[in-house]
Amino acid sequence: MAYDFDLYVIGAGSGGVRAARFAAGFGAKVAVAESRYLGGTCVNVGCVPKKLLVYGAHFAEDFEQASGFGWSLDEAQFDWATLIANKDREINRLNGIYRNLLVNSGVTLHEGHAKIVDPHQVEINGDRFTARNILIATGGWPQIPEIPGHEHAISSNQAFFLKELPKRVLVVGGGYIAVEFAGIFHGLGAQTTLLYRGELFLRGFDGSVRKHLQEELTKRGMDLQFNADIERIDKQADGSLKVTLKDGRQLETDCVFYATGRRPMLDNLGLENTGVKLDKKGFVEVDELYQTAEPSILALGDVIGRVQLTPVALAEGMAVARRLFKPEQYRAVDYKMIPTAVFSLPNIGTVGLTEEEAREAGHDVQIFESRFRPMKLTLTECQERTLMKLVVDARTDKVLGCHMVGPEAGEIVQGLAIALKAGATKRDFDETIGVHPTAAEEFVTMRTPVAG
Ligand code: FAD
Ligand code: NDP
Repeated sequence: MAYDFDLYVIGAGSGGVRAARFAAGFGAKVAVAESRYLGGTCVNVGCVPKKLLVYGAHFAEDFEQASGFGWSLDEAQFDWATLIANKDREINRLNGIYRNLLVNSGVTLHEGHAKIVDPHQVEINGDRFTARNILIATGGWPQIPEIPGHEHAISSNQAFFLKELPKRVLVVGGGYIAVEFAGIFHGLGAQTTLLYRGELFLRGFDGSVRKHLQEELTKRGMDLQFNADIERIDKQADGSLKVTLKDGRQLETDCVFYATGRRPMLDNLGLENTGVKLDKKGFVEVDELYQTAEPSILALGDVIGRVQLTPVALAEGMAVARRLFKPEQYRAVDYKMIPTAVFSLPNIGTVGLTEEEAREAGHDVQIFESRFRPMKLTLTECQERTLMKLVVDARTDKVLGCHMVGPEAGEIVQGLAIALKAGATKRDFDETIGVHPTAAEEFVTMRTPVAG
C-alpha cells in the first residue's frame, strides 16, 4: 500500500524534531504535527526559558559581590516584566528557527492537534493522513496532586508567564524543577519557601551533594521545609493564599508553585484505536528499539518516561531515524553515564554513580572530596563553598562518578562525562595537568581518599 508519509511524527519537541529532520535527511517522506509550540517543552516552557531566568537571578549576587572588586553601584533594581518580555522575544526567535529547520529539511509541518485513528492513520484539523510508521513524541505535562484548592496553585507552565514577581512564593516538590525555580524566585527577590515531603530534597542525587546544597541554600536565606506536605490551599479575601499543612501548621503566601513531577501527554491522542500499551506509571511502553506493542507505532522522549532530559530525547530521535531509514548507521542509545545539571544557585553537576549507588552495586568504594571557597569570592563577603566529589572503584581504579555543587558545575561536568564514558581511572585523573587557576582543576588534584 502507498502511504502519504513514511513517518508521521506527533510532537515537534526535542525528540520529534530530531527524528523528523534526520529521517527526512535520510530520504524519507516525513510529516510532523505540533499542537502548541515549535521546539516543545524545552524551548518554550523548559530548559531554555528556565536557564534565562536562572541567569537573571544570578545577577543579584554578582551585584552584591562587585563591591569587593572596587565597583560601586546604586541600589540594583529588578523589573520582572522586562525579563519576561525579553525572554518571550528570544523564544519567538527560536520558534522561527525550529520552523525553518523543519521546512528546510523537507519535513511537512502540520499545525494542530493530531489524533491516531488507526495504526497507520492520523487525523489533524479534519484531514486524515496515512503513514507507514507513526512516532509518538508528545512529551509530558506537569502533574499537580488534587488536594482541595489545587486550582489556586500554578505549575512551571504558568510560572514563565506570571504578570508580576510574587512577593512570597511557596514551591512544592524536591526535584529538578522545584529546586531550580526556588533559586530563581529567591534570587530575584521573592521571599521563597521550598516545601518537600521527604527528609531531604533531590532524592537519587549523591548524599553529599544534597546536604551541601541544603547548607548553601540555608546560608542564602531560603526557607527550606522538609518532611512537610500540603493538605489544602484557601484563597483569602485579599488575594493571598492560606496553605494548611498536614501537620496542622498554616503558612501564608502569594503564590503556590507545584513541581511534583510530570505525566505523559496522551490527551485525546487516540491510543484506544491502537494496540499501544502503557506501563505501570502510565507512560508508553516501548522495547529497546522504541517500538510500542503496535508494530507500526514508535515512541520516544518524555512520553516513554525513561530519562526526561532533552539530550536523551535527541539521542532517541536520532536512533529512531537511523533504525527506520539508515539501519546500517544504527547505534543504540547508551543510558549509562548520562551527565546532568540542576541549575540551582549554586549549580549541581553530576555524572555516573552516586556513592550510595556504587556501594549498593557492590563496588569497593573510595571517595575523594574537596570543599573550598571559590577564588572569585575571596574578595567578597560571600561564604559560599564549592563541593567536588569523586567516587572511585578501589579495585579497578575506575572513576564511577563525579559530583559537584558550585559555579558552572554543569559546564565542568560535561567534559568529565567524556572521560568517564571512555573509562577513565583515578590515575588518569591524577596524571591530567590542571588548568590553573580554576575550580575545575580540583577534580585532578584530589589525592587523599576520605577516611571511612
Ligand atoms: P516535548 O519537548 O515536551 O515535546 C512534545 C511536543 O508534542 C510538544 O510541543 C507538544 O505541544 C506536542 N504535542 C503533544 N501532544 C500532541 C498532539 N496530540 N498533537 C500534536 N502535538 C502534540 N531537560 C534538560 O535536559 N535540561 C534542562 O535544563 C531542562 N529543564 C527543564 C525545565 C522545565 C521547567 C521542564 C518542564 C523540563 C525541563 N527539561 C530539561 C526536560 C526537557 O524539557 C524534556 O525532557 C524534553 O523537552 C522532552 O522532549 P520530548 O520531545 O519528549 O517532548
Ligand atoms: P521530579 O520527578 O524531578 O521531582 C518531583 C518531585 O515532586 C520529587 O521531589 C517528588 O518527591 C515530589 N512529589 C511527587 N509527587 C508528589 C506529591 N503528590 N506530593 C508532594 N510531592 C510530590 O520532577 P520535576 O517536576 O521536578 O521535573 C520533571 C523532570 O523534568 C525531571 O525529573 C527532569 O528529568 C526534567 N528536568 C530536568 C532539568 C534539568 O536537566 N536541569 C530541569 C527541570 C526538569 P519524592 O522524591 O519524594 O518522590
